[in-house]
Amino acid sequence: MNSSPFLLYSDGKGNIFEDQSLYAVGRAGWDAMPVELDEWIALPDGGSLYELPGRKAIGIDVKTGEMRLCEKGWAVAAFIPPAHTGTYIAAFETAADAPTLPLFCYTAAGWYDDAFYVTALRIEKDIRQECSGYDAVKIENGVEDFLKNYPNNRLVNHLAEKCCRTYTCPAARNMFLSRWECPVPTSPACNANCVGCISFQPEEESIPSTQDRLTFKPTAAEIVEFTVPHLMNAPFPIVSFGQGCEGEPLLMWETIREAIIEIRKHTPRGSININTNGSMPKAVKALCEAGLDSIRVSTNSAQKTWYEKYYRPNNYAFEDIVESLKVVNEFGGWSSINYFVFPGMTDTTAEYEALRKLIKQTNLKMIQWRNFNIDPDWYLGRMGIVEESEKIGIREMMQLLRDEFPDLKFGYFNPPMERIRGDFEYDLAK
Ligand code: SF4
Repeated sequence: MNSSPFLLYSDGKGNIFEDQSLYAVGRAGWDAMPVELDEWIALPDGGSLYELPGRKAIGIDVKTGEMRLCEKGWAVAAFIPPAHTGTYIAAFETAADAPTLPLFCYTAAGWYDDAFYVTALRIEKDIRQECSGYDAVKIENGVEDFLKNYPNNRLVNHLAEKCCRTYTCPAARNMFLSRWECPVPTSPACNANCVGCISFQPEEESIPSTQDRLTFKPTAAEIVEFTVPHLMNAPFPIVSFGQGCEGEPLLMWETIREAIIEIRKHTPRGSININTNGSMPKAVKALCEAGLDSIRVSTNSAQKTWYEKYYRPNNYAFEDIVESLKVVNEFGGWSSINYFVFPGMTDTTAEYEALRKLIKQTNLKMIQWRNFNIDPDWYLGRMGIVEESEKIGIREMMQLLRDEFPDLKFGYFNPPMERIRGDFEYDLAK
């Protein structure tokens, strides 16, 4: 690449154009800024583009070098596919009456050499959610088989009708293809009130949750019935409690413990993981005693202030999630954070220092650098961010952490036992 991509804009009718009078830029926090040429990659397969109503794109004038607005239409941003981490947000100015954007990520995008480009990097080589890897016919046959084999299992029915056929959840589709990570939602309730919760948005909010929460409490028997065959037969098998279509799984820890004990009576194979807000370290201890192998704690920040301002926890605090990570480490389990990456918040010096401390305190094994699916202005507004803090840059921060913590793994997905216990760099695609 020998020049920045051109800025993109839309006519508000779903048509996207490049503006050859403006170069595309990126954004971190509230700041728009030029992006180094090597930070742009071609939009990966499975990515999509969004037009942003009531927003004008910011770019650099090709002739004057001045930063200015594109007056030709709405701004455009990219939703980048799993396994990739965005390093800059799309840069735009929002009109006062613009609607809040739904819960997706809005990565900077541009046009170069007849292709769409984005500011992102591939952080994970695992191919489990490559969109080219999903065969709709095989998936539907798998759904039919599961519904026939488990006619009275409410959880299989939920995963078939809601998760796979309605939400086209990549994890549920892998389950019905009997491969890799199998999702196990269990909890209709949550003990947090995240601003950008994807399974529940209060009525007063103008944006929808991206999926509805589970409405029933599965039994241990319903969980065990389909997870044991998965662990026994699937390649690189993982069973994961804690999914986007539920509340907090730790609120169901007794049922999950019962299920883990029963599962391990049938098979030692695979990894049993829990994706959680990490709020209940005592419950985590009980699950580790029962045989839990891995935990992934979600967080928007390693700093108590921003964590509690976003999660709005009921009867727990930031210190509890740190304790949950420590507990799993004490049991020799695999501990990851599901780190919501927001350029301008994630890469501040204060956040970097807090993250270093968290890694050391918990002997963390892995950071899953996930894109934060939220309207950037809405998030910064809710966090009360008016002042800009010193920023390191997402790539630079990753390199600093790599240098200081060479054993710390980076990725996007929960690793199977073959990578946890074996060669972490093992290529699952082989
Ligand atoms: S912890 Fe999860 S389910 Fe609970 S409010 Fe936050 S995003 Fe929603």
